[in-house]
Amino acid sequence: MLSGHGCFGKYLHQIAGREPTPRCHHCPETNDSVAHTIFDCPAWEAERRPIANSTGIDASSLAEVISKILQSEESWKALHDFSEHVMATKENAEREREADPASAPLRRRRAGRRRRIFIRQA
Ligand SMILES: [Zn+2]
Repeated sequence: MLSGHGCFGKYLHQIAGREPTPRCHHCPETNDSVAHTIFDCPAWEAERRPIANSTGIDASSLAEVISKILQSEESWKALHDFSEHVMATKENAEREREADPASAPLRRRRAGRRRRIFIRQA
């Protein structure tokens, strides 16, 4: 999620070429990015709350979020859970758009499943 590679309008439009615009499919925002997903998108407000509670509610930049998650395991887990849930939801929505024959002709199917890397706790 933090790399910006994945189901973000900006990535799907500019890098992957699978979307005709970088818009968010979950709210009216015209530029869906990592920062939009973590901080602003109203679609993830409930999922965002545990991050705010564990990192301090005013984290407003990616650098600040990264700093917070490196300071506490609770913060790390909160961002991990947020990322898993939100990215899975966004990926499912992308698959539904891909399967819809009426969707934009520019869209190309994704090459494979997102590779999941988990850091397991000892
Ligand atoms: Zn949005």
